[in-house]
Amino acid sequence: MLRQSALVVLSGGQDSTTCLFWAKRHFKYVSALSFRYGQLHENEVEIAREICNEHHIPFSVIDIPFISGLASNSLTDSSVAMDSTKPADGLPNTFVPGRNLFFLSIAAVFAREHGIFDLVTGVGQTDFSGYPDCRDSFIRSLNVSLNLAMDEQFQIHTPLMWLTKAEVWELADELGVFDLVRERTLTCYRGIVGDGCGDCPACKLRREGLEQYLQKRNSKQRDEQF
Ligand code: ZN
Repeated sequence: MLRQSALVVLSGGQDSTTCLFWAKRHFKYVSALSFRYGQLHENEVEIAREICNEHHIPFSVIDIPFISGLASNSLTDSSVAMDSTKPADGLPNTFVPGRNLFFLSIAAVFAREHGIFDLVTGVGQTDFSGYPDCRDSFIRSLNVSLNLAMDEQFQIHTPLMWLTKAEVWELADELGVFDLVRERTLTCYRGIVGDGCGDCPACKLRREGLEQYLQKRNSKQRDEQF
């Protein structure tokens, strides 16, 4: 059976937006799903919607506000001061416990209802921020659980799993969406689109990757000139 449809879990950030265009290259029909889960920067959902509308990609949003009430973290609670580094004794408070577990489980039920069994997510563990639900072992385990839960053959695709942030930029460039990803997506924990605040952990990771990739691209262009 040739499977032609994929559902992308889209947050409007660099990684999932790159995955959206990866999916467009690999699947005939692509749709996207975002979640409003009580995140402080809900404008990311509107960013995701705009990008999808411009590229004629069917887009849906599901509200799961209970996520923010389950556990305290700095992405959903403005009274929690954001950890700027990973504490020695555990996860930074930018970790939203269960987020990818809920997102992918809900996405699978939603996809099944639309006859879609290929799910795409932008998680990756190379630039591992310490989030356990971004690890390959978790995704594989969840994939098995989803299949058992619904007696289906889902496949969760993680095109960024083993890429560094620099390689994610390179992939966006190969897919022809480097400028779109750079200027339009929202990765910043402070909710600033594009290059962001430059200072939060997400911005730092994104910027360092970008600088590495631009260096590589510039030296390649120089080599080609000679
Ligand atoms: Zn930032």
